Amino acid sequence: MNSSIDERIAHIRSSLPPSVRLIAVSKQVPAEVIRLAYNAGIRDFGESRIQETANKQVELQDLSDITWHFIGHLQSNKAKKALELFEWIHSVDNLKLAQRLNQLAQQLEVSPQVCLQVKILPDPHKSGWSVPELLADLGELNQCQFLQIQGLMTIPPLGLAEAEIVHVFNSTRQLAEEIQSQKLPNIHMQHLSMGMSGDYQLAVQAGATMVRLGTILFGDRN
Ligand SMILES: *Cc1c(COP(=O)(O)O)cnc(C)c1O
Repeated sequence: MNSSIDERIAHIRSSLPPSVRLIAVSKQVPAEVIRLAYNAGIRDFGESRIQETANKQVELQDLSDITWHFIGHLQSNKAKKALELFEWIHSVDNLKLAQRLNQLAQQLEVSPQVCLQVKILPDPHKSGWSVPELLADLGELNQCQFLQIQGLMTIPPLGLAEAEIVHVFNSTRQLAEEIQSQKLPNIHMQHLSMGMSGDYQLAVQAGATMVRLGTILFGDRN
């Protein structure tokens, strides 16, 4: 990439509505590059591995106003560590994990912000609730009172045509509206975490409130 990270961040930030939260996905990005993004104004970083994040947080501990977002598949045996490292977990993808996080959040006296990961279309490569499964689990999710359930997260399957991607994002928004209309006291649906480097403009048009951008900010990963 020819432009500097400052220029790329400024360009993307200015192309997003001010209300959309830009999460810089810094997986595989070294701490010193995260620091450059921080100096360019980024305060939200997304990571998908626990140990990698723990190491970076040690190197970046002077940057105390970073918000760390977990966006990867979370194994239940790493749930406690995830709560220690992250304020947001976008990728809560099944009821058992939600209940485990809820129990740990109570013990650790934290109240993590979470999104429920949903699959609008079947995708063997991704985890997440199907729409009927999620609707069926809402009652039990509503009992997870130590979680702040803030909205939905989705990742369209790879290789979709633009119209199909738009359909996935619009369906996710409609699902959030449908869940919101049930007025479950512990389930809020004000956030939609959707949009990556290749599709974030479509996601924003469909109502994304948080976009998760890696490649377009930091360049290709290995
Ligand atoms: C890696 C990743 C991203 C960022 O993807 P880019 O295409 O590099 O922007 C966003 N969301 C999730 C869940 C990811 O794993």
